[in-house]
Amino acid sequence: MTEVADKIRQKVYEKFDRRCARCGSAYMLHVHHIIHKSVADKDTMNDEENLILLCHNCHMAHHNGGYAIKAENVDGKIRYRFSDSFLFGDKDEPKT
Ligand SMILES: [Zn+2]
Ligand SMILES: [Zn+2]
Repeated sequence: MTEVADKIRQKVYEKFDRRCARCGSAYMLHVHHIIHKSVADKDTMNDEENLILLCHNCHMAHHNGGYAIKAENVDGKIRYRFSDSFLFGDKDEPKT
């Protein structure tokens, strides 16, 4: 299977509050593979941990090389770091 299961997709949407992890937009959301499908391990690439919710614009910008995405485990919590210095991972954290 190369497609993300609906159940996992749903979980990703909920995890990110149905908003883009980078800019907060709720418009035209895509589930993106942090480790790209072309290079990811087929067994783990569709795991929830490898998926992030991005809006169309942020998704395209990433694939066009505009910025990099890194998942980091901080004290057991996954944080997502964008190379243009936007940090996401804690819902309570104010977005700047
Ligand atoms: Zn976005
Ligand atoms: Zn993508």
